[in-house]
Amino acid sequence: MSKKWWDSLSPEQQAEYNLLRRERYQKRISSMSAQELAEHKRKQREGWQKFGANLAPKKKEQLHNIIMANARKKWANLPPEIKSKEMADMKVRGKKVVEKQKRLVISHYSNGSMVCCKCGFSDIRALSIDHINGGGRRHTEEIRKAGTIFYRWLIKNNFPNGFQVLCMNCNYIKKAENKEDTGHTVK
Ligand SMILES: [Zn+2]
Repeated sequence: MSKKWWDSLSPEQQAEYNLLRRERYQKRISSMSAQELAEHKRKQREGWQKFGANLAPKKKEQLHNIIMANARKKWANLPPEIKSKEMADMKVRGKKVVEKQKRLVISHYSNGSMVCCKCGFSDIRALSIDHINGGGRRHTEEIRKAGTIFYRWLIKNNFPNGFQVLCMNCNYIKKAENKEDTGHTVK
């Protein structure tokens, strides 16, 4: 589409057109098999990465600012019902990403067994990553402060050594034995 044609449209028409395009895209995506979808996403990601890698840093920053400004503008103009739907979708997507990251991290540090290394507990909801050397606790806590960023940090840093999988019980017991602050008085 030409920019001139696009600019000649009213904001409502633009919104309608975008909605149509989005629907068409969603339809295309939903007709893909899981494999096709993964391939499609990989290609898309690679394309953007290649594009970004070839840009001069200054140009990249400019482009980033334009994209963000456009996104903000677009967001501000969205009808409330689409906004709330979009926010709900975003939440679901975010949760899925974190779950995937957690599974990846727990799998790595349990050598694929997905269980607590002390007692064998296997419900992933109560499994956590523990800094084997209590001394690094502050570091771990620092990263963990930002919540799920910890998993991403481990993945990005190529799964550094010194961590293990503990369930919440074993984690608590370890802290009590090491006389670390558990937030409770241990009798
Ligand atoms: Zn345990």
